[in-house]
Amino acid sequence: MAGRIPSQFIDEVLARTDVVDLINSRVPLRKAGKDYQACCPFHDEKTPSFTVSREKQFYHCFGCGAHGSAIGFLMEYERRGFLEAVEELAHQAGLSLPTEGVAAPEGPDRRPMYALLDQAAALYRRQLREHPEAARAVRYLKGRGLTGEIAATFGLGYAPPGWDFLLRDLGGDPGAHRHLAECGLVVEQDGKRYDRFRDRIMFPIRDRRGRVIGFGGRVLGDDKPKYLNSPETPVFHKGRELYGLYEAQQAQRNPPRLLAVEGYMDVIALAQFGITYAVATLGTATTGEHIQLLLRAAPELVFSFDGDRAGRAAACKALETVLSHATGRQEIRFLFLPEGEDPDTLVRKEGREAFERRLKAAPPLSDFLFSQLTAQVDMASLDGRARLAGLATPLLEKVPAGLFRDMLSERLASLVGVAPAQVAGPRQAPTRRRPPPRDRRPLTTVQRAIALVLQEPRIAPAADGVADDWRRLATPGTTLLAELLDLVAAYPEIRTGALVERWRNTELEPHIVRLADPELMRGLSPDGTEAELVDALGALNKQARDAERVELYSRPSPSQLTEEEKQRLRGLLSEPTRSRP
Ligand SMILES: [Zn+2]
Repeated sequence: MAGRIPSQFIDEVLARTDVVDLINSRVPLRKAGKDYQACCPFHDEKTPSFTVSREKQFYHCFGCGAHGSAIGFLMEYERRGFLEAVEELAHQAGLSLPTEGVAAPEGPDRRPMYALLDQAAALYRRQLREHPEAARAVRYLKGRGLTGEIAATFGLGYAPPGWDFLLRDLGGDPGAHRHLAECGLVVEQDGKRYDRFRDRIMFPIRDRRGRVIGFGGRVLGDDKPKYLNSPETPVFHKGRELYGLYEAQQAQRNPPRLLAVEGYMDVIALAQFGITYAVATLGTATTGEHIQLLLRAAPELVFSFDGDRAGRAAACKALETVLSHATGRQEIRFLFLPEGEDPDTLVRKEGREAFERRLKAAPPLSDFLFSQLTAQVDMASLDGRARLAGLATPLLEKVPAGLFRDMLSERLASLVGVAPAQVAGPRQAPTRRRPPPRDRRPLTTVQRAIALVLQEPRIAPAADGVADDWRRLATPGTTLLAELLDLVAAYPEIRTGALVERWRNTELEPHIVRLADPELMRGLSPDGTEAELVDALGALNKQARDAERVELYSRPSPSQLTEEEKQRLRGLLSEPTRSRP
C-alpha cells in the first residue's frame, strides 16, 4: 500500500506539517533549548525524556528509544495505519491524497453504490417513524430499553413487509435495479427481483468514514434467520468491517478501550448504558484484519464471550487469531459472561459500573492462554508438563518476536520447569510496531556516516569535498549511504523525518530506524558532525583503496591487468598504505 503513495507526496505532506505542533496538540510540550520536551507518552516516567526537534522534524525518547517522524507519531500514538496517518496529515495540510494511493488503480467508481446505500438507510429510518407496521419495531426497541436518541445515533430503521418497497422507491429503471442488486439490497432469483430485507428492524453498517456499506436486519416475527446481513459486495467486506467502530470513534475520538461483542443489539444496548466502545463482527469469526483494526483503535481490547461451551470454543478460536498480533503493547482481555447472559441482558441487570468492573477484572490474554493449556494436561506429572510445552510452543511461535513473546516463553518455562531457551521458538525479526531492543553494538564506519547524514542532512554537502572512492565498495552499507547522499543532494530541504519515511516498508527500514536514533549522536557537538562525516568518508575511501590494491595485486600476473588498471595501481601505490589496527 505504502508503495503506491509517491515519496514526493509524503515529502510534501511532511514539509507542510510541523511535528512540534502535531505532538503538542496531543502531548503538551515544553521548550527546552532549541527542542521541546514532555514526559514520554510511550512509557511511564516522571522526568521528561521525550524530545521533539523542529529542526529535524523528528521525535525521540531517551528513555524507551521510541522515535520517528510525524507520520510515525500518529501511527504509534493513535494506532493508525500508515495510510490513515498520511491521510490525516495530508488533510490537515490541505492536500488530497493521490488517488492511486487509496483505491485500486483504475478501480470502478463506487460513489453510486455509497449514494444508493445512503438513500436506502434514509428510507428505512423514515419508515421506522411513519410506516403503520413500524409500531411493532418501535415497541421491540423500547422493550429493549432503547431511547429515540440512541436509535438515531445508530441510524436504526425499519424495512416494511412486502417484496418491492425499495424496488418501487429506488429502482426507477433497469439500471437502478442492477445497482440495488449490486449493493445486496435486492435479491435476483430466476429472473425475478425482490427486496432482501422485509419486515425487519434495520441496522445500517457504516465504515470508518461513516459511509453506509451494508445492513443487518432483525426479524420481528418468527421468520428465519433471526438476523440477516447484507451479502459481501464491492463495498462491504465482513472480514474487514466492525459494527459500531465508527459510532465508538464518534462518541470518543480515542476510546480508551474497545469491547468486542457478538451482536448489534449488544453494541447498542451497551451504548444506551454509556458503554460507547463496543463493536461487533458481522456474523463472521474474528479475522486477523479485525484484530489489527481493533488494536490500532484503542490501547485496550476486551473480547466478550458467552460462558457456555460454545462461548469457550469461540474464545479459543479468537485466541489463536489474536496471538499473531499480540505484541504486549495493548492490553487484551477475555471476558466470560455468566451462563445465560449476554452483554445486553447483563448491562440492563447490573448497570454500567458493575459491568465495567467485570471488564477490568477479565483475565488478560496470557492468563487465559495458560489456563486453557494447563486445563488440558496433568500438571502434576512430568509427562503432562512435557505435553504442555508441546501444546504451547506452536501457539507461542505465532506471537510476534519481542518482549511479549519472551515473557510468555519464560512463563511457559517456569510452568514446565526448564530454562526459557529450551522452549522459546525461533526468533524472527521484530515487528515494526514495537521498537526493537536497542542494538548496543558499536557502529561501523559506514553506519556512522549514514547516521550522521540521516540525523543532520544539512551537513551532506560536506561529502562533496571528499573523494568518492568509497562508492566503489558497493557493500549494502555504502549503497545506502550513496542513496542517502544523492537524495539529500536532490532535496536539500529534506529533514530527518521525511528521510526516514523514504525507507518505510522496505528491507532496510530496521537499519534506518536504528541509525536515526539520536542517542547515537550523544557526546557529539552539533558543530562536530560535519568533521565526523568527512573523517568517516576518508576512512571509507582508505578501505576502498586498500581493497582495490589487494584485488589488483592478487592477480597472478601483471599481464592480466588492463592499461587502466595498471594506471590505477600506480596511483594507489603512491599513496601511503593504511595502517591496520
Ligand atoms: Zn519513552
